[in-house]
Amino acid sequence: MYLKSIELQGFKSFAKKTKINFTEPITAIVGPNGSGKSNILDAITWALGETRVKSLRGAKMADVIFSGTHQRKALGIADVSLTFDNTSKWLDIPYNEVTIQRRMYRSGESEYRINQETCRLKDIQELFMDTGIGKDGYSFIGQGRIDAVLSNKPEDRRMVFEEAAGITKFKKRKNESIKKLQETLDNLERIQDLLNVLK
Ligand code: ATP
Repeated sequence: MYLKSIELQGFKSFAKKTKINFTEPITAIVGPNGSGKSNILDAITWALGETRVKSLRGAKMADVIFSGTHQRKALGIADVSLTFDNTSKWLDIPYNEVTIQRRMYRSGESEYRINQETCRLKDIQELFMDTGIGKDGYSFIGQGRIDAVLSNKPEDRRMVFEEAAGITKFKKRKNESIKKLQETLDNLERIQDLLNVLK
């Protein structure tokens, strides 16, 4: 399982449609300061569903859309696709190749697709949960993240190990079930109140 390619259009400094193929086992991205190396990493985490503007080094989400230069007008849409080799079936989906796509308009509205099919952000998050590849996964480590992992609070560091151990998915489901249980208890209490009034 590896990231085969990324296609960007209108994302940060990548105004033109740009495709970058990654080769196994390692691809190094080199270039002068400010040439867009970190923007590629931002595009990866963004396509994987990053919703925290700060993690994308912006002030508002629309900052990921190409904002124009002297030669080129600003654009209205940012579009990023990531294609993964899934012959190992690391991702729980019956395809040898998986492409996820995120498109965002200046209004802030995002669209997500898995292999061309429109889906929810939740579907993308669940597909990558416990694989180490999600937006909080340990596969994509940007500048500063190593320091952050080393100096974080123990609870934060534990999250990295939980993702690697594959229990994040179960923790999330447990929390969802606890929330539903609490809502049911609240409803029961309300019904009991009504019954008391009707007595
Ligand atoms: P360094 O080596 O210094 O870390 P880098 O190669 O990682 O640099 P990036 O941070 O990826 O560079 O790219 C910075 C460039 O991206 C800047 O020139 C900035 O103007 C441009 N940029 C960022 N957001 C946008 C945007 N929305 N529209 C157009 N250009 C943008």
